[in-house]
Amino acid sequence: MMQLQDPVTVLKGVGPKKAEALAKLNIETVGDLIRYLPREYQDRRTVTPIAQLAPGQVTTVIAKVERVIQNFYRTGRRQMLRVLVSDASGTLDVLFFNAGFLKKAFRTGEEYAFFGTVSQVRNRLAMAHPQFTPAKDRESGILPVYPLTQGITQKDLRAWQRLAMPLYEQLTECLPEKIVSENRLTDPASALRGIHFPEDRQRYLEAKYRMIFEELFILQTGILAVKAKSAAGEGIAFDPEADVQDYIDGLSFPLTGAQKRVTEEIMKDLESDHVMNRLVQGDVGSGKTAVAEIAMVKAVRSGYQAVLMAPTEILAKQHFEGIGPAFAKYGIVTGFLSGHMKAVEKRETLERLRSGEIDVLVGTHAVIQPEVEFAKLGLVITDEQHRFGVDQRIRLREKGSDPNVLVMTATPIPRTLAVIVYGDLDLSVIDEMPPGRTPVRTRCIGEELREDCYRFVEQQMAAGRQAYVVTPLIGPSDAMDVRSAEEVAEELAERFSGKNGYGKYRVGLLHGTMKQDEKDRIMEEFYRGEIDLLVSTVVIEVGINVPNATVMVLENAERFGLAQMHQLRGRVGRGKHKSYCFLIRQGDSEVASKRGEIMESSADGFYIAEEDLKLRGPGDIFGTRQHGLPPLLIADLVRHREILQKAREEAARVIEEDPGLLLAGHEELRRRVLRLFGNSLMLDL
Ligand code: ADP
Ligand code: MG
Repeated sequence: MMQLQDPVTVLKGVGPKKAEALAKLNIETVGDLIRYLPREYQDRRTVTPIAQLAPGQVTTVIAKVERVIQNFYRTGRRQMLRVLVSDASGTLDVLFFNAGFLKKAFRTGEEYAFFGTVSQVRNRLAMAHPQFTPAKDRESGILPVYPLTQGITQKDLRAWQRLAMPLYEQLTECLPEKIVSENRLTDPASALRGIHFPEDRQRYLEAKYRMIFEELFILQTGILAVKAKSAAGEGIAFDPEADVQDYIDGLSFPLTGAQKRVTEEIMKDLESDHVMNRLVQGDVGSGKTAVAEIAMVKAVRSGYQAVLMAPTEILAKQHFEGIGPAFAKYGIVTGFLSGHMKAVEKRETLERLRSGEIDVLVGTHAVIQPEVEFAKLGLVITDEQHRFGVDQRIRLREKGSDPNVLVMTATPIPRTLAVIVYGDLDLSVIDEMPPGRTPVRTRCIGEELREDCYRFVEQQMAAGRQAYVVTPLIGPSDAMDVRSAEEVAEELAERFSGKNGYGKYRVGLLHGTMKQDEKDRIMEEFYRGEIDLLVSTVVIEVGINVPNATVMVLENAERFGLAQMHQLRGRVGRGKHKSYCFLIRQGDSEVASKRGEIMESSADGFYIAEEDLKLRGPGDIFGTRQHGLPPLLIADLVRHREILQKAREEAARVIEEDPGLLLAGHEELRRRVLRLFGNSLMLDL
């Protein structure tokens, strides 16, 4: 009997070549195959008589081939194959363009089944590029359509999926019985049958619901198990006597109400003896850094070391340059670590860290490398690391004996979703801006006003300010009417710097495929004011701070998501000068203009994120990858958030009863959790 772990070659028709192609789809065993899901379906249940066809209809037609006519267009080499077919009710043109080789596929007088979309060509009904087979070989029913790769056809996959169907009976239920019955979920075998070969829509929907529920339930169970584990772990309690008030009083500004509240939440966690795992969400400019500084001072004064990790070299350096001198005044020693340091310097820093001489380490991902050892790590802070996964958080945590963890992010995820995405963290929100900020004045304009916009940019530069111009693409592309960063940079360099670069203003270019060193150098120059105008792709999105920059221009604004535009706009309005944002939009789609209005009228990242969800459904920033969660096969965190909520409640009940998933009946669930997270959870389950 076939087993789930058997290689695909046990299936009839799968030889070494096909197996190799399947491996490209990550299908190696027959178990993998049955978990490979259709992307869509074709409903081949209805056969429509030709006389009843209507344009736009997707259907099967069974008809006899009357004539095959090959037409060449007079201009060029375009070629059309016209197959005239008929059934008892009428005649139809079946058309194939540039596919003369198909001529031999048809035999006059024979009956074929054609499946495709009906169209109208010069008052005649037609079907262009239908799928077809001789009528006697016709597949009927609702057929799955799988994502393919070279060397594998739809027919292959369907046939193999059918051959693998007996395996369904071997699947073990991973959901606890009670959850299955209370949520009226179908069993795993029926679910797979309903997904691969649904008999009708109802059965397909039941199957899909079950699979989405299962996937989200396993995801949530894993996240909550991590949370339970870290909550149970002995944490480091910081010294309640260690006072930080003098540091707070020494800041150049009074804390906002929200900063005070969040600082208190953090202090309470830090002084308690269970581990802190807290996410601080605060819009760009809300003042997360000050809160982080206070927490680090608390750690050091309690006799521990702290580490602050940033996603890019330049951000890390900015933090270091800000925090270092501030801390030095209080006798706190700060060190810096990145992947781009001289070996000697690095060795020295690592040594000083190990000996405990460095109190606070600031750096990039380099700080989680294995060779980095702390004398007494008590607090880990990550800044703007929404791509920083559960497993990486755990890796950092393992560098100390369960240090406290603070994750700071400006990615405005609606609260309902954040609780789930960051399910292993407690949540604090800085929902108030420091006083005196005037919102960035934002205008959404058409291309006809681009000239005015750039004249305005020039005035700002003449006044000593700096500007950003961001485009969606790096290089020229013929596919779209999009201004690329390279093209725009060239154009603006000519305009502002003059042909030989002796003009008044310096224009720089920054994009994602440049070498890291070069990116750092350009950013550094912009930061120091040696570049006046920076043309860039979205690489500047995260946390960069150049207070002298006052204008943000987004070219092809219609191609950016709302949340993304908000992040980009947050790069200006960071200093004492009034700041501006121009969204230059091409075309006038309704969604684009709605987005423009939202940007013009709101500066609230959370509101904008909610609107973003409504306008485009699941967007980039809500993908699981970006949050460091394992990839999901069928569920979508946004579209299925109601199911997610339900699955979370059920997962919470299970974990509360059995945090290690050790009870009888949870064996399969435990296996599935470990498989989804690829053991990265270090759960010791
Ligand atoms: P973000 O939350 O985006 O990381 P920052 O911590 O970089 O924000 O703060 C943005 C700017 O606001 C900094 O220049 C900082 O000095 C200033 N700032 C922070 N808190 C306050 C406050 N309570 N009052 C006035 N200015 C503040
Ligand atoms: Mg910041």
